[in-house]
Amino acid sequence: MESDCLFCRIVAGEIPATIVRETDKTLAFRDITPKAPVHVLVIPKEHYADVATLGQGDPALAGEVLATAATVAEEEGLLGDGFRLMFNTGAYGGQEVFHVHAHLLGGAPLGPMLA
Ligand code: 5GP
Ligand code: ZN
Repeated sequence: MESDCLFCRIVAGEIPATIVRETDKTLAFRDITPKAPVHVLVIPKEHYADVATLGQGDPALAGEVLATAATVAEEEGLLGDGFRLMFNTGAYGGQEVFHVHAHLLGGAPLGPMLA
């Protein structure tokens, strides 16, 4: 755990969050400022700064994040109409919280990502 990391503090229970799914190694909770009718963040409990570090450092854990995202998508009723799963990465990617997180977005048409 990194004590100055917002999402590590959510994992530790120090900051409240609306948790929708928890596994041994992952956590899914609702984004505090939702950008779609469904907007859930899916993270590994272990701290990795971004998806590049996670994907190279622990590909099995990256797979568990994807599995949790898929289960939450199903539970939120997104499988039929579809959804977007997105990892903002680094400055150019618009990442603001440097604990890797997948944005699961759905519940309405999201349009093309690169308009
Ligand atoms: P990023 O830009 O790093 O990909 O996305 C960070 C996301 O975290 C944003 O969508 C933002 O709304 C969300 N966020 C920031 N602070 C909090 C918080 O304290 N709780 C929750 N649940 N989400 C947060
Ligand atoms: Zn962290």
